[in-house]
Amino acid sequence: MTADLAGRTLGFVGLGNMGTPMAARLADAGATVRAFDAAPGAREAFGAEVTTATVVGSAAEAARGAEAVLLCLPNSDVVEAVVDGGLLDALEPGTVLVDMSSSEPVRTRALAERAAAAGHTLVDAPVSGGVSGARAGTLAVMVGGPDDAVAALGPALAAIGHPRHVGPTGAGHALKALNNLMSAAHLLASSEALLAGQAFGLDPEVMLDVVNASSGRSGSTEVKWPRHVLPGTFASGFGLGLMVKDIRIARDLVVSTGTPSRHTASTVALWAEAQDDLPPDADHTDIVRWLQGKDAR
Ligand code: NAD
Repeated sequence: MTADLAGRTLGFVGLGNMGTPMAARLADAGATVRAFDAAPGAREAFGAEVTTATVVGSAAEAARGAEAVLLCLPNSDVVEAVVDGGLLDALEPGTVLVDMSSSEPVRTRALAERAAAAGHTLVDAPVSGGVSGARAGTLAVMVGGPDDAVAALGPALAAIGHPRHVGPTGAGHALKALNNLMSAAHLLASSEALLAGQAFGLDPEVMLDVVNASSGRSGSTEVKWPRHVLPGTFASGFGLGLMVKDIRIARDLVVSTGTPSRHTASTVALWAEAQDDLPPDADHTDIVRWLQGKDAR
């Protein structure tokens, strides 16, 4: 364990694919974790799996006695609904709100201003590394916010992964969206290339071995294809809808900065088309089956 959180009380809201293992690591590192999710099934599953944490009945209850409340929710809409739906009013004076969701950086800055007006600091700390990285405590944590609040969060974030202070509030959410834009583009590009190689008669495992020692390698060739595509499981734990949300955030950032955006636009268009065709619970790696023209379920 990388951190000793004994004596610290943390709230955690959002016990899904990522939030569950992240909250578990905080509890295992010795923190008193007060955990909440809106879905009764998620609360039950969390309570059964993470016996070292306390499941509570609302986000406001999660904040009781907490020096920081961490959120791991689907998007900015949900983050704002939770914060405005009772959490902000329930925070102890000076509590740090930590949005670990992949949210919209401009909305994050606006929310931070409202939190500051109520006497609280908001830090954005989205993560990358998937469910396996969350379990192992090896997530990349992209932290945006003021120095003192970020420093105070250091031990908690170190229990979750490798925090890096990347700039002021909103910087973490901006970088996370841009990371996923690259990841989404890589998955499309590498999948089209690997499917073409297979159609030409090449062995996909041989191709991956060679590409992963060559200049075409990426997280898609090193992780997604070997772990989720070739075994035919398509169950990475990262939903396709969440990926589309992230790359739309990145597209808005690219366009708003006047940066060249044609490749970004085509990446978003393809992923959005796949989302229209696939079931709402599709995994993001299902895009490979979609490219193959197969039914994803
Ligand atoms: P998830 O859908 O598995 O979990 C989200 C949880 O939020 C659910 O349990 C849901 O019930 C809960 N929730 C929704 N509305 C709520 C509310 N109003 N109050 C309390 N709880 C509420 O999603 P996830 O895969 O865990 O992703 C969470 C965040 O992390 C997203 O922003 C996602 O983009 C990001 N992320 C995911 C991955 C991944 O591999 N899954 C990796 C990096 C980042």
